[in-house]
Amino acid sequence: MTTGEIHGGGCLCGAIRYSLKGQPSHATVCYCTQCQKQTGSLVPAMVTYELENVELLAGTPAVFRSSTIATRQFCDRCGSTLFWRGDGRTEVDIFMGTLDDPSTMPAPSLELWTTHRAKWLAHLDGTESHETSQTPDETDQRAALAARDISR
Ligand SMILES: [Zn+2]
Ligand SMILES: [Zn+2]
Repeated sequence: MTTGEIHGGGCLCGAIRYSLKGQPSHATVCYCTQCQKQTGSLVPAMVTYELENVELLAGTPAVFRSSTIATRQFCDRCGSTLFWRGDGRTEVDIFMGTLDDPSTMPAPSLELWTTHRAKWLAHLDGTESHETSQTPDETDQRAALAARDISR
């Protein structure tokens, strides 16, 4: 993933700007209720980058602890959803709609929390679907979170 490409992005009002180096490890569509509520969209999509390839250029995102395993970062001026950070992870999810040119990103390869996918939405071609989250070692957390109807 060591191409010289740089992708710019930021929030709606422009207070927060970031850059991403190279291509993401993958792209995901996540229908969990938290992603849906935070973005206001029924089809939230994000790309995953190693932290070292993400640079904050302007502004400081506000941080909301959305679950026992993660925080969500957003612009406290315009409300744009920017980043999802799993505790202790070396990678960060960037909400794709905040990129200046989202078409430079790969199509999603993962579809998470399809249990909350709107009934009028079809399975996304080319994705591996999961009813909840995708990581087997998160089974316990997943069950606990599902029981509280929250996620990721
Ligand atoms: Zn903003
Ligand atoms: Zn989600």
